[in-house]
Amino acid sequence: MSCTHKAIIAIDGPAGAGKSTTARRVAERLGYLYIDTGAMYRAVTLAALRAGIPLDEEHIAQLLPQVRIELRPSPHGQRTFLNGEDVTDALRLPEVTRWVSLVSSFRRVRSFLVEEQRRLGRQGGVVMDGRDIGTVVFPEADVKIFLTASLAVRARRRLQELRSYGVTDITEHELAAELQRRDELDSQRAESPLRCAPDAIVIDTTELTIEEQTERVLQFVRQKLCNRMP
Ligand code: C5P
Repeated sequence: MSCTHKAIIAIDGPAGAGKSTTARRVAERLGYLYIDTGAMYRAVTLAALRAGIPLDEEHIAQLLPQVRIELRPSPHGQRTFLNGEDVTDALRLPEVTRWVSLVSSFRRVRSFLVEEQRRLGRQGGVVMDGRDIGTVVFPEADVKIFLTASLAVRARRRLQELRSYGVTDITEHELAAELQRRDELDSQRAESPLRCAPDAIVIDTTELTIEEQTERVLQFVRQKLCNRMP
């Protein structure tokens, strides 16, 4: 698809809407780089938990100069490194999930990571997923997608994902409560809240398979970018 050359594709939405899997597949199909910005917020949260510091903005801001995050593509998806250590699996720990929305609400954490995200994406040829990509990180992104799904379906998907990592001590009901809590925190915070950009295309994935979601996104990418060609 040559008319997608070097575009920036932003995929935002709440947790469990299928953003990561869809974004990764879209990136694969286009030969683009996939950037999971949630993993970056999780990495800062993990660094703070490991440092044993109080989880307030002041302490975390002091830690940031010692936090080096690298995202490396691998045949099994993006791997995330924290100061040289592969922490991809640790980022999914319930403790990280519990605190990540608080840590991401801090202005200084956001400006530190947004700067890094802009650096990674500015050459184009990227699919970036998160909460504020189309609104704050790249308001000029070529294609903006907002993925949503019902809470029940998002909880079921998250349960399956956790089971695949061997996590069995959480129920679908608990997961739904956790997702709802994070949705609220992410949408109500003062700094870059989760919002659908006015020019984003909304896709409700409740009834869609991953393959269908991927196809829809690719369709929009083609429409948007190929129509723009002379
Ligand atoms: O996408 P994921 O569920 O891994 O994101 C974890 C958390 O990181 C979100 O609940 C949100 O609090 C935060 N986040 C954010 N902005 C982004 C990506 C993630 O605030 N661009």
